[in-house]
Amino acid sequence: MGDVKNDVDVLVYGSAIVDFICYVDRLPKEGETIRGHKFENGFGGKGANQCVAAARLGSKCALIAKVGNDTWGEKYLENLQKEGVNTRHAKACEGKSTGIAQIAVSNDGENNIIIVTGANDCLDGSDVHEAGYLFDSAQVLLCQLETSVAGTLEALKRFKGISVLNAAPAMTNTPKELLQSASILCVNETEAALMTQTEDIKTLEQAKLATKKLMEMGANTVIITLGSQGAVYSEKGNSEKCYHVPGQKVDKVVDTTGAGDAFLGALAYHMAKYPEKSLHQHIGYANLQASYSVQYPGTQSSFPKAQSCPSTSQ
Ligand code: ADP
Repeated sequence: MGDVKNDVDVLVYGSAIVDFICYVDRLPKEGETIRGHKFENGFGGKGANQCVAAARLGSKCALIAKVGNDTWGEKYLENLQKEGVNTRHAKACEGKSTGIAQIAVSNDGENNIIIVTGANDCLDGSDVHEAGYLFDSAQVLLCQLETSVAGTLEALKRFKGISVLNAAPAMTNTPKELLQSASILCVNETEAALMTQTEDIKTLEQAKLATKKLMEMGANTVIITLGSQGAVYSEKGNSEKCYHVPGQKVDKVVDTTGAGDAFLGALAYHMAKYPEKSLHQHIGYANLQASYSVQYPGTQSSFPKAQSCPSTSQ
């Protein structure tokens, strides 16, 4: 990997979770043991996913995260290193297991999921402090809410470049300070609805109203992703104007898991690489790369690589 100590474009502070996916004919009842017909193991967690998405497109990325001092932690770090991610600050936490998600998926697409966050709970402000030199040198910071809010807040406050808070999983009472501390808040329509206590966000008009509400709640610039419809955004200082960046049409949607993470990784890559371009252009690029990911199965496995990613004239 060479010495990449200070050489980082995109810094990600967040979660790393191993997915154990069992495919079953139907979900088990209480106390019941059933046979599954397929097993898959995947690497997930919003933090690590977004970091891998940006690294695949060509960003120099570092992940600040915690895994367990166990086999899965080792495997996770190997996976990140294979993706070219700087893991100097993705550390093993003594006495905690690597975060896992045990997922059962039935033939009719129903699922149940158990998440044990494990080592992710150890990530805190001391990790921000230790990696201070990365906060000084990176251009874009990505954070989510799968690890402690206090640590995330510290990371956002420490960073002076462009910070993006993907407030997922969403909270009903998101602290104002958290929203104020990020340059950009990016959420999907479900998260935006929960945060603004709006019943449903289905139409562009409803999404535009939600961006306004999120700004009133303290957010600076806001992006709301809308699945196949792309995204809407409002920029700081101009909350009256909300723009729509349409999604890319795809021939066949195979699996939309992780589309939001592909979007955020691509957004960060593009903002770091082309700081002179507009937010509209950054979002257009993120839509394009996320639309690639929905055409392939899995999460990290579906993210485009620099040599295969769709290109734009932007
Ligand atoms: P999440 O994965 O968090 O639910 P979205 O569903 O809003 O987030 O998807 C994130 C982005 O992925 C969208 O803004 C869009 O760019 C892209 N995307 C998602 N679904 C599709 C689709 N069916 N066709 C094309 N692009 C899609």
